[in-house]
Amino acid sequence: MSTENAATFDCPECDVTAPSTSVPYDSLGYVVCPVCGYAGTPSAGGSPSLEGPPSAGD
Ligand SMILES: [Zn+2]
Repeated sequence: MSTENAATFDCPECDVTAPSTSVPYDSLGYVVCPVCGYAGTPSAGGSPSLEGPPSAGD
């Protein structure tokens, strides 16, 4: 069974799915969503915490 599933890019922003071969890439080589322009840049470890550390004291 040759269920060779080609790599597909599914956008987390607009939920579109397209073959990785038919989507554009930015200058860094990351896939860019052809619909909304979302760049699938992987978060390099240190993700900025939205909540932040609890403010000690008041
Ligand atoms: Zn998108």
